[in-house]
Amino acid sequence: MLDSTRLSARCALIALACLAITACSKSQPDEPDAAAAQKAPAWVDSARLLAANESPGEWMSHGRTYDEQRYSPLNKITADNVANLGLAWHYKLDVDRGTEATPIVVDGVMYTTGAYSIVYALNPVSGELLWKYDPGVDRSIAGRGCCGVVNRGVAPWKGKLYLGAYDGRLIAIDAKSGQEVWSAQTVDTTKNYTVTGAPRIIDGKVIIGNGGAELGVRGYVSAYDAETGDMLWRWYTVPGDPDQPAENAAMEAAQKTWFGDVYYKQGGGGTVWDSMAYDPELDLLYIGTGNGSPWNIKYRSEGKGDNLYLSSIVALKPDTGEYVWHYQTTPGETWDYTATQHIVLADMDIDGRSRKVLMQAPKNGFFYVIDRETGELLSAEAFVPINWASGVDPETGRPIKTGLGDYSETPKLVVPSPYGAHNWQPMSYNPQTGLVYIPAQITGHLYEDEGKVPAYALNLWNVGLKPMKVPEDPAELAAVGAQFSGKLLAWDPIKQEAAWTVDYASPWNGGTLSTAGNLVFQGTADGRTTAYAADSGELLWESPANTGVIAAPMTYTIDGEQYVTFMAGWGGVFALVAGGPAEDIIWRQSESRVLTFKLGGDDQLPPPNNTPVPAPTPPELTASAEQVEAGRQLYHGVCAGCHGGAAISSGLVPDLRYMNPATHAQFAPIVAGARARQGMPSFAHVLPPEQITLVHQYLIKRAHDLTAMQGKPSQ
Ligand code: CA
Repeated sequence: MLDSTRLSARCALIALACLAITACSKSQPDEPDAAAAQKAPAWVDSARLLAANESPGEWMSHGRTYDEQRYSPLNKITADNVANLGLAWHYKLDVDRGTEATPIVVDGVMYTTGAYSIVYALNPVSGELLWKYDPGVDRSIAGRGCCGVVNRGVAPWKGKLYLGAYDGRLIAIDAKSGQEVWSAQTVDTTKNYTVTGAPRIIDGKVIIGNGGAELGVRGYVSAYDAETGDMLWRWYTVPGDPDQPAENAAMEAAQKTWFGDVYYKQGGGGTVWDSMAYDPELDLLYIGTGNGSPWNIKYRSEGKGDNLYLSSIVALKPDTGEYVWHYQTTPGETWDYTATQHIVLADMDIDGRSRKVLMQAPKNGFFYVIDRETGELLSAEAFVPINWASGVDPETGRPIKTGLGDYSETPKLVVPSPYGAHNWQPMSYNPQTGLVYIPAQITGHLYEDEGKVPAYALNLWNVGLKPMKVPEDPAELAAVGAQFSGKLLAWDPIKQEAAWTVDYASPWNGGTLSTAGNLVFQGTADGRTTAYAADSGELLWESPANTGVIAAPMTYTIDGEQYVTFMAGWGGVFALVAGGPAEDIIWRQSESRVLTFKLGGDDQLPPPNNTPVPAPTPPELTASAEQVEAGRQLYHGVCAGCHGGAAISSGLVPDLRYMNPATHAQFAPIVAGARARQGMPSFAHVLPPEQITLVHQYLIKRAHDLTAMQGKPSQ
């Protein structure tokens, strides 16, 4: 462990060395390029990444270290002094949407991202903007993603930063100037692919996945040459057309576990949209794969088969993309139970034997401890109450299904829901306490067969389930909301039980950071940044964020001062869809910011703007009750994914009950793309004019419900 005195001494030495080099380079203009380049900012290479624990003041890769533990050895801020933590600075992002990035801090600069994949380089001491890079993502493709126009951050490598842009481009950016160096399109742009995850870099190869399994795509992960942008390999996670030769032996094996033709015509899913980890000793890259596409296996694969490699952890050779092993968490996935959740590597003693393990808490509700050399299951236990499976068979490694999740004949209320028992919000592992800090979720969903092969179209969810039913009655809505909750769970991975828990009213809280100061940091749905004692769970500090916080915090030092940064900005799938059940925490004027704290910080946030506004008087409702019901169904099939169930928005996109007369007058053109450049895609290809009218009438009805609730006379 490094003490802060030694750290300061090191920093002083490094600063002196830099001065010497600067002076030296002035007198020697012919210095070799390589040496000059090494002074460039963000000059991160394999040696630095492998030795990340020797420079704990920096945060050079997504999970800080290749094992993605999100544990910091920094200990200037401790359980004893964290109460003195104050805001050092705040920086307002350009777009007030979901903020999911983990900032990188290296060579004295912070690099982070916001909505629409905009990159910001900031002074980590003052928050001053050094440069900004906007990749110019076409706002009209906002609807191609399931879960918001989010981005989870950049990766530095040898003076450049690598960004996965929402539209599928992998972009190399000069870390000093913020100028684009190269750009490679990693997806078929005629399909519903998006990229929101942070790239990882292994030995000069930039690894990037993609998302889209709610909307019909075939998942894969690719590696690109960091210097040239050339694609080096691509590994598909699910098979393609069986009439074409399989790409490799792994795909040949997978083919035998799929049935029918819907899956390869509609993509099959298995997207690698977030999690990766790397073990340099074993030279294995671990990826987490997503759900099936369409979700409902009845249509995707004739209701049968394991459907490899959906919902799996897969080990690949990073040099070639060659398959090594896999562990499938949910064979025959049919509930959107992705295994894209954060993967953590650690070494620990289990039954008197030192094991190299991999840990994951995927959506399906089990906490898995797996031998990362072989893929052997070591243990798995449910970390929240679930009903679809009663356990995991230790012999076969397969879940023991209860039948309560089988909705092929009758609708079933299944726990967890598609939001998962844990979503993308990263967990962290603290080797000092031996605990994993999981942002856990307790949610259920009524799964109801759609009754037909779902339609594939741009911007359209095609999951094979009937749209959710969100009650319109406020009391019923509150009752639904009360069934959702969240926990910060300190999980003992060896005993497979909770050491302590903190309860939250909302399931959708932030990822976690744990530090050697015996601390766990987490942001919350209800707009706080918090710190708990890592060993006991005692709340030691909290501060307002003025918006919901979903990203995981990170920490760094500059000149011996330790800082903790939270990216604040409400968003993501739960925020978008479940505005109604979460009405008590709607962020009406959510403002996305970078918030950085230090001991004794005295910066102030402006006051939050979360005041409800009165709804304009809506136009007259002219439709019959039957037409309103038809409009309700269409709305929930096409619109609710962003504008919210029961037409109650989270505040991130317009709440359509609040449309003004001008918007009502323009309703049909807007649905047909008139505001595509502002991020409202066209739905003219899925909603003919008469259906747009039905949706409009449903929204007028909901606007009248609102004005009645607000005590205004209805027309
Ligand atoms: Ca999904």
